[in-house]
Amino acid sequence: MLKSVPLVDRLSDHTLLKLQAYINGEFIGVADTPVKNPANGDVIAAVPHLGATEATRAVEAASAAFSGWANKTCKERSAVLRRWYDLVVAAREDLAIILTSEQGKPLSEARGEIDYAAAYIEFYAEEAKRVLGELLPSHRANARILVQRRPVGVVAAITPWNFPAAMITRKIAPALAAGCTVVVKPAPETPLTALALAELADRAGFPAGAINVVTGDAKAIGLVLTTHPAVRLVGFTGSTQVGKLLMSQAATTVKKVALELGGNAPFIVFDDADIDAAVEGAMASKFRNTGQTCVCTNRVYVQDSVHDLFVQKFACKIAMLRVGDGLDANTEQGPLINERALAKVRAHVDDALSKGAALVVGGDGHALGGTFFQPTLLQGATAEMLLSKEETFGPIAAVFRFKSEDEVIVAANNSAAGLAAYFYSQNASRMFRVLEQLDFGMVGINTGVISTELAPFGGVKESGNSREGSHHGILEFTELRYACVELQG
Ligand code: ADP
Repeated sequence: MLKSVPLVDRLSDHTLLKLQAYINGEFIGVADTPVKNPANGDVIAAVPHLGATEATRAVEAASAAFSGWANKTCKERSAVLRRWYDLVVAAREDLAIILTSEQGKPLSEARGEIDYAAAYIEFYAEEAKRVLGELLPSHRANARILVQRRPVGVVAAITPWNFPAAMITRKIAPALAAGCTVVVKPAPETPLTALALAELADRAGFPAGAINVVTGDAKAIGLVLTTHPAVRLVGFTGSTQVGKLLMSQAATTVKKVALELGGNAPFIVFDDADIDAAVEGAMASKFRNTGQTCVCTNRVYVQDSVHDLFVQKFACKIAMLRVGDGLDANTEQGPLINERALAKVRAHVDDALSKGAALVVGGDGHALGGTFFQPTLLQGATAEMLLSKEETFGPIAAVFRFKSEDEVIVAANNSAAGLAAYFYSQNASRMFRVLEQLDFGMVGINTGVISTELAPFGGVKESGNSREGSHHGILEFTELRYACVELQG
């Protein structure tokens, strides 16, 4: 019997796991919508298909809970968050199994994601105590300018399937720490991790209505969350297309929108790079989560004189990746999330080959069938190919050859996206020169792994308009209130 989250034992006994949504401190709804394991297509659970009515109830519950939660002392809010963190850490293994079962990533990566997700709760439990106000120099001798940071109010969080735990805690931990209450709409592919986190939050002692999780009809729930006057901020991680839609819907009631949208990360290997380190970085940045992360390398640019060496070493590593069910301890790459993802990956490979790219490794569906795809390396990629223009979101590494620093900076910036970029060089002057010209919110220099709760995560251009993580992340969920205080007598 599972000690921490009463889901895993039932996941493994092959009876249909029926979960409920979480509104106003109660688990509600009829579990009627299947959740599938992408590794084998098995239906592993069912969750309620809720809509506008329940979304409205959740917003009203969050609204009713707001002043009570916002008016707690920062230490009180911190203590509840800390209890939630402790429970998540204690349930790490169970949460990781749930996550892999619905999302497909290898268990080792799922454990890493739970640690990463928990780290946001821990960090913002601490940061709750450091939302500082100001007393500013005044314009009149007997006046004082007092500035407070107030929680914005009810926050809606609409989250994707690629990081079912971390994309939730990265939004709602800072929101809750700031004094906001939240309504979460998880991705339909991965509601189980969200509901497990809600169960742990319930046990941690959040007041009823402070956290709500509504599963179901994305459009209907999304419309309520973006138009209900009580919602004051919509936080979204997902596709650029849906982000733009939510932004326009939120405009009708002038809500804040905090968007973290798609990327199209360049990964540049200069001729002065440590090639082995660059290969390691490219493996981590390209193939983690089967290439389904928004900071995934999408375009690998390698300078002429080191091109062949890099491709050869990269190819050896890619060919060795072990593909399989994420629950198998040996697996290094799981399946793609669904058929749509598989079709996109195939389309990108076919398009690249038809436009002159050459296959070095992989290139086809994996022998395991389903949505498994071979880890793939292409060389001879060009700007005309789909995989240059769009995020592939799959295990396809496409190598472009370049000659000069100036040329590669223009190529790297030639995208509407501006989330993450990576480059490898051991020349300190080049590091600064290139860093300062890259039009991206985050840059990995001699590393392919940049995500941490301690740093501000986010993009520029069409990749988004907010930052999550670090002390900056909590400020997104606050508004300034200025009081002019006139001294009398
Ligand atoms: P993907 O294509 O990778 O699934 P999406 O942007 O479609 O990315 O999904 C991210 C999140 O946005 C998911 O929770 C999804 O259910 C939600 N979503 C999709 N369409 C809408 C919509 N019209 N309104 C609100 N949420 C939506």
